[in-house]
Amino acid sequence: MPLSWTDIDALIEAEVAGERFACRAGCAWCCHQLVVLTNWDDGREILRRARARMSPARYRQFVSEVRRQARAIEALGHAEAEGRRWPCPLLDNDRCTVYEVRPVACRSVFSRNADTCRAMMEHEDFAALTETQQREATEIGERAFRLQVMINDRRRIDGPVELRALLARLLNEDPGSGRESGTED
Ligand code: SF4
Repeated sequence: MPLSWTDIDALIEAEVAGERFACRAGCAWCCHQLVVLTNWDDGREILRRARARMSPARYRQFVSEVRRQARAIEALGHAEAEGRRWPCPLLDNDRCTVYEVRPVACRSVFSRNADTCRAMMEHEDFAALTETQQREATEIGERAFRLQVMINDRRRIDGPVELRALLARLLNEDPGSGRESGTED
């Protein structure tokens, strides 16, 4: 029986119970980086929600941005792209359009200090962060990795793929999406 998002949230919640974090709605510093998914049904669900929720004009802009970023990331290569900032195409006024079905990687980010998250996004060079920020950034990354492994161990693995690349691939597999969006580029 596949894990539901409620199951996944409960597992993650059990790991972070009792801790206090700075994460809140409208804070989206962590939504400017690459996101790796391993279960492709998550991408299909994200597309379904985005399509149902966005206006036709916003959906066209979303599809175009997904494809543009996917091409740019592929051209750079994942390792090089990781050092750059990529505003998630699903962001709307710093809020996730598909929050309830956001990827496991997004659910795994917990920060005690939003200033550290901002510094991480503003400085491409880790060495430019203060010692405290480096420690906090490392803690965020290590916890996110542990949580993702814990969840992924309990789910079907289709293979790791970056969010924009997966969405672009799924859009290409579904000609209806392209026609509706009017952006076949
Ligand atoms: S999917 Fe949602 S939570 Fe994840 S990076 Fe994009 S906007 Fe942020």
